[in-house]
Amino acid sequence: MNFRSTRERAPALGLGEALAAGLAPDGGLYVPQELPHLSAEDFAGRDSLADVSATLLRPFFARDALAAALDAICADALALPAPLRAIAPRTQLLELFHGPTAAFKDFGARFLAACLAARHGPGDAPLTVLVATSGDTGAAVAAAFHRRPGFRVVILYPDGRVSPRQAHQLGCFGDNVQALRVAGSFDDCQALAKRALADAALKERTPLTSANSISLGRLLPQMSYYALAALAHWRRHGEVLNFVIPTGNLGNALACMLARAIGLPIGAIALATNANRVLPEFFAGAEYAPRASVPTLANAMDVGAPSNFERLRWLYPDAAALRSAFTAEAVEDAEIRNVLRGCRERYGTLVCPHTATALRVLERLRTRGDERDYAVAATAHPAKFDEVIEPLIGQPIQVPAALAALLERPSRAEPLAADYAALRARLEAPAAAP
Ligand SMILES: *Cc1c(COP(=O)(O)O)cnc(C)c1O
Repeated sequence: MNFRSTRERAPALGLGEALAAGLAPDGGLYVPQELPHLSAEDFAGRDSLADVSATLLRPFFARDALAAALDAICADALALPAPLRAIAPRTQLLELFHGPTAAFKDFGARFLAACLAARHGPGDAPLTVLVATSGDTGAAVAAAFHRRPGFRVVILYPDGRVSPRQAHQLGCFGDNVQALRVAGSFDDCQALAKRALADAALKERTPLTSANSISLGRLLPQMSYYALAALAHWRRHGEVLNFVIPTGNLGNALACMLARAIGLPIGAIALATNANRVLPEFFAGAEYAPRASVPTLANAMDVGAPSNFERLRWLYPDAAALRSAFTAEAVEDAEIRNVLRGCRERYGTLVCPHTATALRVLERLRTRGDERDYAVAATAHPAKFDEVIEPLIGQPIQVPAALAALLERPSRAEPLAADYAALRARLEAPAAAP
């Protein structure tokens, strides 16, 4: 299958090239030239995440050099649990935090790394993966590329704006991973990364790619866990499963929307944002009005200009149709705190502040009389946000083993001014001796 730019002023590319390019040269995002149609029957006998994913992604890989490696890529990258756990009547958590860095970003980052590694020959020039992160992406990308020959990862994160454990994770890999703490906001980090990725002279000397939320190599595999959950529900109950998804850059939610458009048995999709309410305002009928983000307790969703918005417009070119296809609601910090405080008693489990926004949106839907079956995407393990949650519940949170192992390693990040010349110099410096 070929992929075209949402702006339609760049040539269409095969999957492998589109994965490696990241952003299209006209500034648009790559989207599939047509959407395949699959039904639940096409997944008969497929009940692991890797198997469901291989069936779902086969049409997207058709005629690309990576097609022959698809089964191995899924088996390698997606051998992660994504369990559904009942927490209340007609309510399940879709737990996406059982990977090495305890957030859903592990699925996409590992899949992208496996694809880029399959494309990379031993004689090819080393490739630098540049990633701006609001907290969880950087660690997932670092874990996915750590010690992979032929790759270097450079992480940009806003100094002081990620949780202490997120910061520790970003700096704890070392080897071929460099963490740069930027004196600025996440938007500054994203702008720096974008500028480097558009700098042809730099890329000539230092081949660069990105691993941000717009990457097709992250978007496509994220459909898989929604497909797996919806198929399990369909097989047991013969009904569609509805989802509430905590949303920032719209990468995770867009994957669910695509899975529904392809024909998976998915019903309603409700987006939950924090106080950054660009999407809820748009879905309520306002013009799309991107703006600077405000900091909240759900920091990985502090996004004022959701980077996948153009793909939403591609999926539903008609604004009225788009607005009636999904709903979106904003949740303030005070409500996040309330959910976190009462969560263990109410649902028998703790959640992270991002997942709390989705639980709050579901509570509102229930109050309005919605009794359908919902799965809430649980996007990170609560232990990553101990400094927010522990004071609210008055007890320590148990740390999962994978996260504990990372927290035990020493961590180091270099300071960087929010200045492009400084970043370019850093990217061109020879790799430090190990
Ligand atoms: C990245 C992230 C989100 C937001 O996902 P998007 O794909 O940007 O919408 C939500 N929760 C957590 C924990 C995250 O790390």
